[in-house]
Amino acid sequence: MKTLIIFIVCLSIGALQTDPYADQREDMVDQQLKRRGVNDKEVLEAMRTVPRHLFVPEEHVGRAYRDGPLPIGYGQTISQPYIVAYMTEMIRPKPEFKALEIGTGSGYQAAVLAEIVDQVYTIEIVAPLGKAAKKRLADLGYDNVAVKVADGYYGWEEHAPFDAIIVTAASESIPPPLIKQLKDGGRMAIPVGSPFLTQYLILVKKKGDEITTHNEFPVRFVPFTRSKEKDD
Ligand code: SAH
Repeated sequence: MKTLIIFIVCLSIGALQTDPYADQREDMVDQQLKRRGVNDKEVLEAMRTVPRHLFVPEEHVGRAYRDGPLPIGYGQTISQPYIVAYMTEMIRPKPEFKALEIGTGSGYQAAVLAEIVDQVYTIEIVAPLGKAAKKRLADLGYDNVAVKVADGYYGWEEHAPFDAIIVTAASESIPPPLIKQLKDGGRMAIPVGSPFLTQYLILVKKKGDEITTHNEFPVRFVPFTRSKEKDD
C-alpha cells in the first residue's frame, strides 16, 4: 500500500513537471496578449496550450516565449506571439471552421488554429520547412492539420471554400485565388505591402460579390515569394 502511494505521488509530480514552460506561457498570455487587448477566450486558451518552444530551433528554445519573432532557418521567422494571437482573433475562429493558412513556417500558427477549429490546411513554399512542420505537427498529435508544399498563391482548390484564411507572408496585393476560395461571409487576415516599405495587416471580408478591406496596423513580415511553376 505504502509503495503504491509513493508510486502515485511520484506519478503526479511527474505529470506536473512534464511542461516546465507552462508558467512562461501563462506570463506570455497575460503580459503580451491580454494587456494589449486580445480577449477571445478560445484564442487565449490556444496560446496557453500550444508548446511554442517545440516550434523554434534548439538554440532559441530559451527565447521561445519572448515578445518577438525568431529565426526558423531558410531566412524565415516564426511570428511574434502577439501577432499570431491577433491574426487568429481577426478571423473570429469557430469550432466548425475549415481554415487555410498560407506560410506554414514552423507550423506554430497552424497549431494555434488547430486548437480551435475543426480542420486546418496549410501551405509552405520552402520544402524543408514544410516537411519539418508536417512531422512536428503529427508528432504533437495535431491530426486535424494537413500540410502541403506548394506556392500558396493558388490556395488549395480541392478543399475550398474556407471559412477563414490567414496569410503569414507579406504580399504586394491580395492573391485573387485566395479571395475566390473564401466562403461567403468569410474573413481573411493578410499582411499587404512591399518587403522594404510599410506593410499593413489587412482584414478582408467577403459578402456575396462584395469584398471589403480594413487596415489594422503596420506590420513586418517576411516576403510572399512565388514559384516559377504553377505547383511544386
Ligand atoms: N506561420 C508561420 C510563420 C512563417 S513565416 C509560423 O507560425 O511559424 C512565413 C512563411 O511563409 C515562410 O516560411 C515562407 O517560406 C512562407 N511563404 C512565403 N511565400 C509563400 C508562398 N507563396 N506560399 C506558401 N508559403 C510561402
